[in-house]
Amino acid sequence: MFSLGIDLGGTKIRAGLMQSDGSISNVSECKTLPHRGPDAVIDDMVKLMQQIMNGIDRRDIRGIGIGSPGPLNVSTGIVESPPNLPGFEKVQLRSRIESVMQFPTYLDNDASVAALAEYRYGCGHGSNSMLYMTISTGIGGGVIEHGEIIRGRRGMSAEFGHVSIDAKNGKLCTCGNHGCLEALASGPAIAETASRVFSRSMTTQEVGQLAFDGDPLAQRILDDAFDALGAGLVNLVHAFDPERIVLGGGVTQIGPVMLDRVSSYVVNHVMPPYRDVSFHFAHLRQDVGVIGAACLVP
Ligand SMILES: [Zn+2]
Repeated sequence: MFSLGIDLGGTKIRAGLMQSDGSISNVSECKTLPHRGPDAVIDDMVKLMQQIMNGIDRRDIRGIGIGSPGPLNVSTGIVESPPNLPGFEKVQLRSRIESVMQFPTYLDNDASVAALAEYRYGCGHGSNSMLYMTISTGIGGGVIEHGEIIRGRRGMSAEFGHVSIDAKNGKLCTCGNHGCLEALASGPAIAETASRVFSRSMTTQEVGQLAFDGDPLAQRILDDAFDALGAGLVNLVHAFDPERIVLGGGVTQIGPVMLDRVSSYVVNHVMPPYRDVSFHFAHLRQDVGVIGAACLVP
């Protein structure tokens, strides 16, 4: 039996079939073209799913799981108005896919499903509670306890990017507050700080390379960003008491120096009983969203 997972992202849609052991097959993807409107994007999702189901007996598919950028309402299946999907205003994504595809369909936000995938088949495996944080263009995440995503009232919890650690003097965030993690430590935030300091346009990858080569200014920029992540995680460790912390997303490509800095900040700043929390880089790579979406199918 298979579960079909589909990962709707701001730049691409990726889908695949997952077996009960977490192995993925028939993976395929296409570009997301949000400027063509939600109807066209939903058509593209349907075409992609039909393509990967080609040659598979419908009776062997248990259901469809969708991971989508938030905010979205898990109970109603409505995608509200994600910044990464311009033009998506209150789209009934779950029921529209369900009525065309005729399979039980489930929807959750992309960071929550990535957390679920890491918990079941990545480095959360074997733990009772795991906190996942993804650091790339934005910062998000999820908390899993005893196999379940902690969702909050409408499934909008775990917006870790908007945990503020310097509400008075910190950089202005897109949400209107100051000193949010996303404004201090996301990929674009690191690139922006570096571009200002070096007076030329820089990518996060270049900052990582310069720091690796021993440039003290680049190292300082990264240390500040990693300490901000550490400070945010200190709050989250005290709030959720996780057994493991898993970091994913593009910024983790900077490498082990990031995990060392973030974990020592946390261990040095949490209260003593919390110091045994363990730190890991996410294990699942490009299929994390597809696996997580498929995990939504019970
Ligand atoms: Zn914010």
